[in-house]
Amino acid sequence: MLFTLKSHELRQLFFDFFLSKDHLIVPSAPMVTKNDPTLMFTNAGMNQFKDIFLGNKHPAGRRIANSQKCLRVSGKHNDLEEVGHDTYHHTMFEMLGNWSFGDYFKQEAIAWAWEFLVNKLGIPEERLYSTVFEGNEEENVPRDDEAFNCWKACFTNPEGRVLEGSKKDNFWEMGETGPCGPCSEIHVDIRDDSERAKIPGYELVNKGHSQVIEIWNLVFIQYNRLSNGKLEQLPSKHVDTGMGFERLCMVVQGKKSNYDTDIFQSIIGKISEITGKKYGENKKWDIALRVIADHLRAIAFSIADGQLPSNNKAGYVIRRILRRAVRYGYTSLETEEPFLYRLVPVLADTMGDTYPELRTRKDHIVKVILEEETSFLKTLGKGLKLIEKKMEELGREGKKILPGKAAFELYDTFGFPIDLTQLILKENGITTDITGFENEMKSQKERSREDAAVETGDWTVVRETGETEFTGYKVTEDDVLISKFRRIKFKGKESLQIVLNKTPFYAESGGQVGDTGFLISKNEKIAIIATVKENNSIIHLSNNNLHDPLAQFHAVVDSEKRQMTANNHTATHLIHFALRSVLGKQVEQKGSLVTPERLRFDFSHFSKLTKEELQKVETIANRMVRESIDIKVSEGVPMKQAHQMGAMALFGEKYGDTVRVVEFGESVELCGGTHVNNTGSIGIIKIISEGAIAAGVRRIEAVTAEKAEEYINERITSVEEIASLLKSTGNIRESVEKLMAENASLKKETEKLQLQSASAIIRELEEKAVLIKGIRFLSGTVETGSVEMLKTIAYQIRNSSGNTVLVLGAEISGKANILVMVSDDLVKEKKINANAVIKDIAGEINGGGGGQPFLASAGGKNASGIPAALKKAEEYIKKLIY
Ligand code: ATP
Ligand code: MG
Repeated sequence: MLFTLKSHELRQLFFDFFLSKDHLIVPSAPMVTKNDPTLMFTNAGMNQFKDIFLGNKHPAGRRIANSQKCLRVSGKHNDLEEVGHDTYHHTMFEMLGNWSFGDYFKQEAIAWAWEFLVNKLGIPEERLYSTVFEGNEEENVPRDDEAFNCWKACFTNPEGRVLEGSKKDNFWEMGETGPCGPCSEIHVDIRDDSERAKIPGYELVNKGHSQVIEIWNLVFIQYNRLSNGKLEQLPSKHVDTGMGFERLCMVVQGKKSNYDTDIFQSIIGKISEITGKKYGENKKWDIALRVIADHLRAIAFSIADGQLPSNNKAGYVIRRILRRAVRYGYTSLETEEPFLYRLVPVLADTMGDTYPELRTRKDHIVKVILEEETSFLKTLGKGLKLIEKKMEELGREGKKILPGKAAFELYDTFGFPIDLTQLILKENGITTDITGFENEMKSQKERSREDAAVETGDWTVVRETGETEFTGYKVTEDDVLISKFRRIKFKGKESLQIVLNKTPFYAESGGQVGDTGFLISKNEKIAIIATVKENNSIIHLSNNNLHDPLAQFHAVVDSEKRQMTANNHTATHLIHFALRSVLGKQVEQKGSLVTPERLRFDFSHFSKLTKEELQKVETIANRMVRESIDIKVSEGVPMKQAHQMGAMALFGEKYGDTVRVVEFGESVELCGGTHVNNTGSIGIIKIISEGAIAAGVRRIEAVTAEKAEEYINERITSVEEIASLLKSTGNIRESVEKLMAENASLKKETEKLQLQSASAIIRELEEKAVLIKGIRFLSGTVETGSVEMLKTIAYQIRNSSGNTVLVLGAEISGKANILVMVSDDLVKEKKINANAVIKDIAGEINGGGGGQPFLASAGGKNASGIPAALKKAEEYIKKLIY
């Protein structure tokens, strides 16, 4: 074997090998998916080719190979709980793959897999096993003899080497419906010879043994599953293979764990350096070191792909992974300060050659992680306090079991995994109701499943038309035919999805909302309420029924909305350009939303824009509007050329994509959206807000055209209204300043008067003072309209005399208010506590409150209880003193 091979050399060997078999090597698609409602993250190499298998898109080549960044933490593939505890499952990993789109099939796929592993890499064949589909009578699918025979021909001695597997392990399906077929896996046995002599490897295949593991899966796509469950043969057959790169590396480098390869060693080394905990010395530390090294990659790659941690969807998944890493550090490695962010440079160093986005976005990744870590460490602190409180409660009630609901709250709100809760409680002799916790988990899962469940019917194909042509760049009306339609049901509501042979309707993407409008035939008019993209298809959504799908339709886009949207979309380009001119070229677009009403533009920048900067941005953008610049569009531009034209590198483009370049003078962008023909038609751009939305990401909101006019007019009107309220004829600013000055002097005057009347009240109170064992006790009801008055009195007395307890009551706006003041000497020497007095008497006014030892107050509903409260206070002091 090639023990000294470095991981990057191994990746290259794979590419070179398939290049020699006439494959096209393509880059990895983004790990965070776009335009696929069924999937948040890429979880296998085939995801980016889904459209080709579904027949919605033609492949750029019939033989393709690559390495794909995958993430398996949600949905069908979720390995999160395994990660760190075993040595060969990751959240994020690279999947090496080769594809045949209607080209070669089982024979070549198997022979080449063998040639690569055995001949190229020198993996001894006595360590290899392969599996084939055993067949299934119910499905009417026979055993995969073809694959079986191919494998038999590979092994020198095939006895006990080619195993049969069930539907679970050896039949692959894309989803409930769609392309599927048998698969063949390759497993490697990396155990020591002595172990292998004891138990033959084939007994351990697919049994969860950490040293007899699957490394490569070859899927042979030959069927299509219909929604009634039946299989039909596909007209053209495909090959889809996936091999775990980290596992392959482990095998080739002669290691027993993925984490011992060069892929992870420098990261683990850095964590050890920071925490002082070495790998291989302590089981608990090792798990934490693996978890953190693994999760760091998932987090950093996602952020590099443009996904920020957040409270929902993909963002929430990333946040949870990050929190899991922080928590393992906190509980196992005693890290109380943020540290994950310090690992990013090491990761960028080790993987930046293959994935340059790690280098170019390094600073951004660091900042985002640091902010998340800091805030989660605070949450963690809060959660720990909550656990303490719960333990106290249990202690008071004499209970020894934490209810499942409370454990779930800790898990759900504070990110406390159940094992951590259990651990802390156990140290205090308390157990956790695990069944109750699991029930809560289950019902939450059910709730979210119900929320997300979409029932889709089969497509009814009306006519074969191929890929939908989008005609909406040129026209907003077109004569069209229906290619297919289906009904879907979401949250109990049925609607209709229609795909056309061509369409002027723009499907929601790139931040721009989809078009609405009508499909009109002789006999019916179907309202289109949204247009979306699913993978590569443009889908028109309607709540109407469709009666005659064969008819000729006229598609009409709501052109007024389209025009308003175009104004806003072009305005985002101009604002983007202006931002880069004012703030510098490091500003990058982070997202946008373009609707008919307004636009939103998110960009990377680390400080609040000053008023002057914002003004400059607006001025530059509006100057470009007044210059009435014509649009220049270039379609089908190869990515490289687009960059030469000055368009910014955008992440997230898939292989094979040529791009559309939209230029307005100096503004050059890659964009598929619809725009104005000339910037002049935007009329005016008005920025209405600017603020931060995440670490290093800011958002500008703006309106254009009529909406900007409305906005400006509203502002002017309200200024005019203010002027008329102020009866100001000249400078409003001066009038307001004058008003404020008047207000301030009135306030001063009031305070003076308040002090005077406070003095009068104090005199009265002092006259009625009683002595309780030498302590002066003042009490009374005050007639006043403000609580402030009570405080003024209290502070005056506190400042002027010691040895005093003061209790005041007042009815203000129908509510009761009471206040207790204890002079500082009594707080100190006699330990009299105003707070305790308030708590004792607040019941009389049906209220509650608190404060400090020297001053406390309470409010309540029952104003008639004030005298009783005052009396009770006196009793309280008496009891205290006697
Ligand atoms: P396993 O049973 O080991 O979880 P799988 O059946 O889920 O594997 P596939 O979906 O067939 O795997 O993926 C293809 C290849 O990707 C596997 O053969 C394996 O080498 C690799 N792989 C799968 N999941 C992971 C993971 N979580 N971490 C690292 N590699 C993985
Ligand atoms: Mg798996």
